[in-house]
Amino acid sequence: MSVAVTETLARMPVTTLKGVGAALAEKLYKLNIRSVQDLLFHLPRQYEDRSHVTPIGALRPGTTALVEGDVQLADVVLGRRRSLVVKVHDGTGLLTLRFYHFRLSQKDSLPRGTRLRVFGEARAGASGLEMYHPEYQVADEPLPPPPETLTPIYPVTEGVTQPRLRTLVTQALERLAREGLPDWLPPAAAQGWSLPAALRYVHAPPREADRRLLIEGRHPAQQRLAFEELVAHQVSMQKRRAEVQAQRAVALPLDPPLAREFLAQLPFPLTGAQRRVLNEIAADLHIPHPMLRLVQGDVGAGKTVVAALAACHALQAGYQVALMAPTEILAEQHAANFTRWFGALDIPVVSLLGKLGAKARREANEAIVSGSARLVIGTHALFQEEVRFHRLALVIIDEQHRFGVHQRLALKQKGIDGQTSPHQLIMTATPIPRTLAMSAYGDLDTSVIDELPPGRTPIQTLVIPNERRAEIVERIRAQCLTGRQAYWVCTLIEESEQLQAQAAEATFAELLVALPELRIGLVHGRLKAAEKSAVMQAFKDNELQLLVATTVIEVGVDVPNATLMVIENPERLGLAQLHQLRGRVGRGAQQSFCVLLYQTPLGHLGRERLSTMRDTTDGFRIAEKDLELRGPGEVLGTRQTGLLQFRLADLLRDAPLLPAVQVCARDLLARDPASADALLERWVASREHYAQV
Ligand code: ADP
Ligand code: MG
Repeated sequence: MSVAVTETLARMPVTTLKGVGAALAEKLYKLNIRSVQDLLFHLPRQYEDRSHVTPIGALRPGTTALVEGDVQLADVVLGRRRSLVVKVHDGTGLLTLRFYHFRLSQKDSLPRGTRLRVFGEARAGASGLEMYHPEYQVADEPLPPPPETLTPIYPVTEGVTQPRLRTLVTQALERLAREGLPDWLPPAAAQGWSLPAALRYVHAPPREADRRLLIEGRHPAQQRLAFEELVAHQVSMQKRRAEVQAQRAVALPLDPPLAREFLAQLPFPLTGAQRRVLNEIAADLHIPHPMLRLVQGDVGAGKTVVAALAACHALQAGYQVALMAPTEILAEQHAANFTRWFGALDIPVVSLLGKLGAKARREANEAIVSGSARLVIGTHALFQEEVRFHRLALVIIDEQHRFGVHQRLALKQKGIDGQTSPHQLIMTATPIPRTLAMSAYGDLDTSVIDELPPGRTPIQTLVIPNERRAEIVERIRAQCLTGRQAYWVCTLIEESEQLQAQAAEATFAELLVALPELRIGLVHGRLKAAEKSAVMQAFKDNELQLLVATTVIEVGVDVPNATLMVIENPERLGLAQLHQLRGRVGRGAQQSFCVLLYQTPLGHLGRERLSTMRDTTDGFRIAEKDLELRGPGEVLGTRQTGLLQFRLADLLRDAPLLPAVQVCARDLLARDPASADALLERWVASREHYAQV
């Protein structure tokens, strides 16, 4: 690579383009467009064919087309909603354009006889064929010939229209032809497409281009760009990882006696997978740089014990450990377990929970800052400003996918006197398909606990329509009368805690009437922390036989005597989430059941998803299926999607590129770090900037 390669276009502000003043520049900034290069990498989402004029007489409802004609009449019509109606004819027929949002001056600008070029979708309307809010162009002079290219449709924002963007991109392409752009892809990845040629093609594909291929993002020119984008993304992950690893951490003992004592008091031996993963963790902790390790283990694989044993390494050496859980309920459950385990080993455990009063909270904070609290357990509240650790050496984050990356980063700042960063252990029960993990967690090492503790009987899953609800209620009665416990989970599409709570309240009321002989509890997100924990405790202590709940119990809750779970409206949830919920049962040796009580009618996709749940309990297979059916955003949870919003790349579609992408990124970073930075700036920098806000 010659140093002479310039990055002129990256340094050239959009204001150097014709027609871009400060006001427009500000709007473009909202689209992350600052330089001419940014404009070139603002890629179309869609393509339309406007390359030929369709006679109005040949239009059919449902077709999207370019037509040209003369205004016969433009009038504001008062109906249920005021609209501007423009009738256009071209000798072969008459077309009505209808605008609900318009300015009065718009009507005046369209006197009879005005020649128009119109693009839109024809529909069958009240007065024959109509187009609603079509794009149109008034021809003051003879119209230029229709474009010889397909028309790109860009992501836009308030005040930046499609035509505006198109003219700007056209200018940018002219600059590209003059200035060129540095290109860092190996020839094999470029597939014969130079960077300028690929950019020209995606912004202005010839009219005979395969539009379907383009819309799907599978054209070689696009694939070449997608490859580059994925490389940029990998570079950013690998850099972040290198940054963390350049920091210092305390080297912890490899084989602490405390861990042996801990194991001796456990009522069971570790599984082979637990042992293997612990060895991986121990080796990381022994190095004076921060560990950054993700442990994946299916529901019930026994991650908590692994977390506790990892903690022993730091505790042995006199350091503090923080354990963060995604929900109050889970934090509390961990606090109870760890207090029991470590109390016996004389290690003080402190929990920072929402239910603590001001005084208790202050005391907890004092214990943390003084270092007398050795193991600190809580929700993300742990990482608020006022919580200061004395000698924090290890952070354990349970059920990572519920947290954003920001929190992960925020934790780093809590090390010892700014001298070292804590080691980080991240646990997730949501199995992440490999391809996705590579991209979403490319900055982490991963371990997999791929073995369940022995003696578990696989859960049987039944898919049953809501019409048979009464039967299921009977089943709960029978099950609970034999001394077992059950969950009834109410779900809603809405994220609204309030609506969820209402649904659960209603079901609770219904079940109280239907099952008078059972002791039934209710837990949902609207309860106060103390109320929630009282209900959970009562369920754990087997004082409640049936627990009606919202998805607040989704992660981690461990009550082995619960052997039946009913999930209402399972069709509304993602497979990964269903898998999590279902994992609340089947935690003991008894046969457990999960009833998916769906609403009829169930669509094809819904049927397929529920049968997947019935047919397998393997979290990895379920995750693969979820990815296939719903895409990466859904699988990883919304918090993570910001990270995975690509301009062109699509993790699912482009998964086959990923191994080569990784190699290419590593290679570029090693060989030419300056170019790696420039690539990052081209594709990722502005988004990262957004993500940090
Ligand atoms: P998860 O991986 O879903 O967080 P937990 O850590 O909650 O799973 O463990 C599930 C249950 O399995 C707990 O009751 C735990 O005590 C038990 N368990 C963990 N490891 C083993 C093991 N090696 N043998 C038997 N039971 C185990
Ligand atoms: Mg767990």
